[in-house]
Amino acid sequence: MSKEYNPYDNVLAVVESAAKVLGYKPSEYETLKHPERELQVAVPVKMDDGSIKVFEGFRVQHSTVRGPAKGGIRYHWNVNKDEVRALAAWMTFKCSVVGIPYGGAKGGIVVDPAKLSKNELQAMTRRFTEAIAPIIGPDKDIPAPDVNTNGQIMGWIMDEYSKVTGRRTPGVVTGKPLEIGGAPGRVEATGRGVVTTAKNLMAAAGTSLKGMTAAVQGFGNVGSITTKFLHAEGAKVVGVSDISGGLYDPNGLDIPAILANAAAGNLLDKYNAPATAKRISNEDLLVLDVQLLIPAALENQINEKNADQIKAKYIVEAANGPTTVEADAILSKKGVTLVPDILANAGGVVVSYFEWVQNLQGLVWNEEETNARLAEIMNNAFAAVWEIAQEKKVSLRTGAYLIAIRRVVEANRMLGR
Ligand code: NAD
Repeated sequence: MSKEYNPYDNVLAVVESAAKVLGYKPSEYETLKHPERELQVAVPVKMDDGSIKVFEGFRVQHSTVRGPAKGGIRYHWNVNKDEVRALAAWMTFKCSVVGIPYGGAKGGIVVDPAKLSKNELQAMTRRFTEAIAPIIGPDKDIPAPDVNTNGQIMGWIMDEYSKVTGRRTPGVVTGKPLEIGGAPGRVEATGRGVVTTAKNLMAAAGTSLKGMTAAVQGFGNVGSITTKFLHAEGAKVVGVSDISGGLYDPNGLDIPAILANAAAGNLLDKYNAPATAKRISNEDLLVLDVQLLIPAALENQINEKNADQIKAKYIVEAANGPTTVEADAILSKKGVTLVPDILANAGGVVVSYFEWVQNLQGLVWNEEETNARLAEIMNNAFAAVWEIAQEKKVSLRTGAYLIAIRRVVEANRMLGR
């Protein structure tokens, strides 16, 4: 029987193997294995019926060695400390591999937000903000959206933090709506970066997205926008899924119609599918006969149970931690080329960085400028990872960690820590 999945073990295993390739002594990277600060809070909320419910919340700062901690806030019933730790550590390595001056953090509340009214959601967000206020701030730790959180929630966080500190502070959080200091292009940035990375991968592998069959798991912010841009690049998206299940059409799905269904607030099970499209499960989606697979939902989706059945030749990780260490080894043996999460989905934090820079300086860039700067960073990061992976004959995941870990270890050394 396989042991229970712990995403933080995944992080430690990857760090260990990359640090060994770098030839580091354990003493040089030991600190990377331990989050700098972890805060667990109780979040009491007066529900609409007058009762009090207390939710459990976390904020973990994995590293502030390269800059203030940075990372999203997740609202999900499966949130737990090990997951938040892993997500925080991935943020440290993500910011490092793309070279933006941040450390890594993550937060979460154990809750199914779909079961809360809008008032309850706002009250919970404000109490959580108050509880973590002592450790966040524009030069300490800057939250952003993640699974089941969005611009509206970021607006509430900004407002509550500004109240607590007595100072309007847009730079405390990114992914805000445009009206209150958000950056044009932030909502689309992660998906845009995923597709930029997929294009870079195909160019490096001597092929192209045009006409390539693709499947995307997860149809939220990241999955839907990734699908939109894949379709725009001429890829044939034959499979998509969300928590309600998936759809498959070997001739290519009607992506504009599926995007319109999501924009109307519906899950895929409410999509009025044509007869050519088949309803499939999320498990089926991952093993579809496609060239490109993009997991864009949650961790631990590609694991030792299904890795052997994966047919895709290319995987671009839009979600954080979708592939376990065991699955990675199986895929690698099968000759699958995989671009790791810390590189592939970094577009979101890159544009969050642009938003924060503008907030601190009172500047406003337009979307064209934002997208051009994003492309430059994503292209350079991909080129560097591809090159080191070729040079050292390692996977793109190990290559990305070689660059990321070296930068954090060097910064640590320069700080004399
Ligand atoms: P989201 O809440 O907008 O969407 C999540 C999607 O996953 C939804 O479509 C949901 O229905 C689907 N889903 C949930 N459980 C599922 C399951 N068991 N099987 C299939 N689909 C399932 O969240 P998001 O912001 O799109 O985040 C998705 C992933 O991308 C997460 O791993 C997140 O950490 C990562 N990510 C997000 C950003 C960002 O900017 N939002 C940036 C980098 C990485």
